[in-house]
Amino acid sequence: MKHFAAALLSAAMLLTLAACGGDPDTAQESIQAIAMDTVMVFTAYGQHSTAAAYAAEKLAYETEALLSRTDPESDVSRLNSAPADTPVELDGRTAAALEAALAWSERTDGAFDCTLAQVSSAWGFTEDTFCVPGQEELAGLLEHTGFDQITLNGTAASHAPEAAVDLGGIAKGWLSDEILKIFQKNQVPRGRIELGGNICVIGDRPDGSPWRIGIQDPADPLSADAFVGILHLTDAYTVTSGGYQRYFEEDGKTYHHIIDPATGYPAENGLVSVTVEADAVEGAGAMCDALSTALFVMGEEQALEYWRSSGYEFELVLVTEDGRVLVTEGLADRFTAGEDTGYRYVTVS
Ligand code: AMP
Ligand code: MG
Repeated sequence: MKHFAAALLSAAMLLTLAACGGDPDTAQESIQAIAMDTVMVFTAYGQHSTAAAYAAEKLAYETEALLSRTDPESDVSRLNSAPADTPVELDGRTAAALEAALAWSERTDGAFDCTLAQVSSAWGFTEDTFCVPGQEELAGLLEHTGFDQITLNGTAASHAPEAAVDLGGIAKGWLSDEILKIFQKNQVPRGRIELGGNICVIGDRPDGSPWRIGIQDPADPLSADAFVGILHLTDAYTVTSGGYQRYFEEDGKTYHHIIDPATGYPAENGLVSVTVEADAVEGAGAMCDALSTALFVMGEEQALEYWRSSGYEFELVLVTEDGRVLVTEGLADRFTAGEDTGYRYVTVS
């Protein structure tokens, strides 16, 4: 009798599982959100997929509210509008993102510079009021940039006179790190965290093959299927930065949103896009995001030098102005070149 009851119970459990979508590892939730000027998609598998995806969405909106430069109530706006040298108490998450930004500013010798807020505003990139600023104006603004203009003590931050913070170059990478933690807490065995050009893949696809991530062809930025190549990845982050992602035209010239901190002008160092890939370990999302911006500023030679001196904790795909696609050695067997793209593909060691 006992056996019969147990058999009935397990049959009932199987039926319940089937009603919920069968094998818990293939139960899937996918949520789309529009935050931080980006279309975000959170896809989680597993028994807790729904909780994980909704928690990710909630954190995305909260992070936008904390780090936005256009919302006057955000932590970043409160810090920037506070009087100079006056500590402002920040949410722990803002402080953590700022700490990562300051660390990467230092590690890239200021090529990643989280204090270009006033310069970006002068170009109108923050407020969508595009214009070309004068050289003198830019020179004046650059006197108040650099990570040493910001002081962070625990969760209290202050800025030097006329200095201001912009976390736009790292915010999504930092957020993807936090969402990965949410997915891990919810035991998500496989999934994708897509924040525009910032992507984190967890595990492999349900059929056991790696996730496929297309690298946008910078020459055809609006096409949904124009790729310079495809990355085949498991448990990895990949972030792409490129001038084609945000720009305006004036008098026949194009000006994009990634600023060279040395000049105050859009970086023009021979690259049209930079993709940084790394294993999905703690902090790698922020690293890939900061580096995609910084290496774009550095240009081909300096970027490859930086990669070689990094101990290969990340890999690169660089697209150059003269039509080459450079793929670093450690990524070459996980990269498939696009067909008939017109690019020349080179593996770099
Ligand atoms: P990303 O798309 O990650 O390359 O970041 C570009 C955004 O970062 C811009 O829209 C600005 O908000 C900010 N930014 C621009 N130039 C830099 C720079 N050199 N270092 C850090 N952030 C920057
Ligand atoms: Mg970035």
